[in-house]
Amino acid sequence: MGKININIKSGSIERKKVAVGIDLGTTNSLVAYVEDGGNNSQIIPIRGRYTVPSIIHFNDDNLPIVGEWAKEHLSDTPERTVYSIKRLLGKSYSDLEGDSKKIGYRIIDEGEDQLVKVEIAGKFYNPIELSSLILKELKQQAEEYLNADIEQAVITVPAYFNDSQRQATRDAGKLAGLNILRIINEPTAASLAYGLGQEDGKTILVYDLGGGTFDVSLLIIEDGVFEVLSTAGDTNLGGDDLDNNIIEHWRQNCLKNENLSLKQIQNLRIKAEEAKKYLSQNKEEYSLSWEGVEIKLSFEKFKELSNEWIQKTLKLVDRAIKDASITINEIDEIILVGGSTRHPEIKKNLVEKFPGIHVNSEVNPDEVVALGAAIEADVITSKRTDVLLLDVTPLSLGIETAGGLMDFLIPRNSKVPTRLAREYTTSVDGQINMKIAVYQGERELIAQNRKLGEFILSDIPAMPAGLPKIQIQFALNTDGLLNVTAQELRSGVKQSIEIQPSYGLTDQEVENMLRAGLENAQSDVEERLLLEAKNEAEQLIYAAQRFLDKNSKFLNSEEIIATNQRIADLKSLIIVTDRHKIHQGIEALNEYTRPFAERVMDVAVKKALKGSNIN
Ligand code: AMP
Repeated sequence: MGKININIKSGSIERKKVAVGIDLGTTNSLVAYVEDGGNNSQIIPIRGRYTVPSIIHFNDDNLPIVGEWAKEHLSDTPERTVYSIKRLLGKSYSDLEGDSKKIGYRIIDEGEDQLVKVEIAGKFYNPIELSSLILKELKQQAEEYLNADIEQAVITVPAYFNDSQRQATRDAGKLAGLNILRIINEPTAASLAYGLGQEDGKTILVYDLGGGTFDVSLLIIEDGVFEVLSTAGDTNLGGDDLDNNIIEHWRQNCLKNENLSLKQIQNLRIKAEEAKKYLSQNKEEYSLSWEGVEIKLSFEKFKELSNEWIQKTLKLVDRAIKDASITINEIDEIILVGGSTRHPEIKKNLVEKFPGIHVNSEVNPDEVVALGAAIEADVITSKRTDVLLLDVTPLSLGIETAGGLMDFLIPRNSKVPTRLAREYTTSVDGQINMKIAVYQGERELIAQNRKLGEFILSDIPAMPAGLPKIQIQFALNTDGLLNVTAQELRSGVKQSIEIQPSYGLTDQEVENMLRAGLENAQSDVEERLLLEAKNEAEQLIYAAQRFLDKNSKFLNSEEIIATNQRIADLKSLIIVTDRHKIHQGIEALNEYTRPFAERVMDVAVKKALKGSNIN
């Protein structure tokens, strides 16, 4: 039974407020919470299930459906069904390295450095909004189940996620209407679920083998904070590979290499997974009559088929240990995460490899990350009366970027001391000065945040736009002093300032800024996405005009007129407020001019080849 809260002043019934932990996974997502006054975290069932497939289907009216129902459309309308969106989060097209080819929906390539977008039925979606749809479903369904409001959440990310992937996860949370208390590493969450975190100096190895990915992380607890010593892994290694090995074995030995239809293979894959789970319970043999043929798998054969697969993961474990510069004896605990760690040979191999070290596998490996995230959410919110915690920064710190947007470098609630660096570049050819303006606050637009100071990085050597590498580093020390350094890495030109972010701010003002940030979070992210689309359009217009100026001799007059028309169309779209329309204009101009760029490139290559002729 749920509790009812009555507001004594007004006499009205108030809904409970619950802070949750969310494991936003590549294939499945989970949400958990700690009951009021309780110690244990528990998974919140969503539509009757503990895990929600991280899949979004857009129906004929372009309305999103998330989870189990969306999964059913993976085979009938793959072009309208988005899965594995976590693999695209915070990534530019050049980061994808061929990942996009394995995906059934359409990914837009709009230049190397732009963040990727997904096109579904003529509409353009950013991975942040797609992830936010999953989070929204989790939030809404969990609210319904608990009969409570969920406003605050801790979300987990892989330990190897970079800054932009973490920021994208945070934005997805904001867009879903959640106040993101903290983004924490998945292995850290798993350690918290095992009650680790109290003992300083403890070294923990987290072995996470899921359906499609393998991650191993080494963590050390220092001053109550988890630090990542090293990570290793393979984004294409998981339980699915073992299923494939089993299918291959059956094809060769039971099915006499017969040609199978796609449907038959899909069905066989379900059976392979079934056999795997059955044999994982230490059974001797799995057998089944499949389309009139007897297919079998003994435990011995299963072990043999698994061996190479397990060894691959152990090699990566060795790499992580080497990268952490520690020895096996220094590891205190091992934690198993991910459904595939139910395979008994995995634990057996780890116990043999690490004699005397406890291999923790008591908590459900599918749920352990979400359960740990819920504990973190509970810890943070139970301390909520002291808004200004001494050891964390109460407000985010960042700099101004194109279009008056705030780029957050140190998110609020970060432990101090902390240090973070990010690379930027110029937007205009020959730019020799760059203004670095430092802000504090939670809003997406700098105009609504508090300016802390600014300086100019001058004497940048003149280079084409996009070529300079300007690294901006924020270092916040335990005294609350922020040191901001900007350096052009190619030339070494450097400038810095020191600021005291808390100077002149009362607790009340900090609280007001936090509140304004929370109240406007959702609309702020929407506005940010619109401004980013406008910036992208402006950059493309600039590049297209420059291209026409330089290369018009390679184009006929019809092509020049048509390009100019598309540039003009895009210019007129910049003033609209529908970012889908802006993206359509970008795509139209990009698609039309792409062959011209190739044409110019061909001419340049031919010229270069001629030049290298020794005759
Ligand atoms: P996850 O991505 O963590 O949900 O892991 C899912 C993977 O775990 C899939 O490849 C499942 O086939 C695998 N899995 C689930 N249960 C078992 C089991 N009892 N034995 C072996 N693999 C399992």
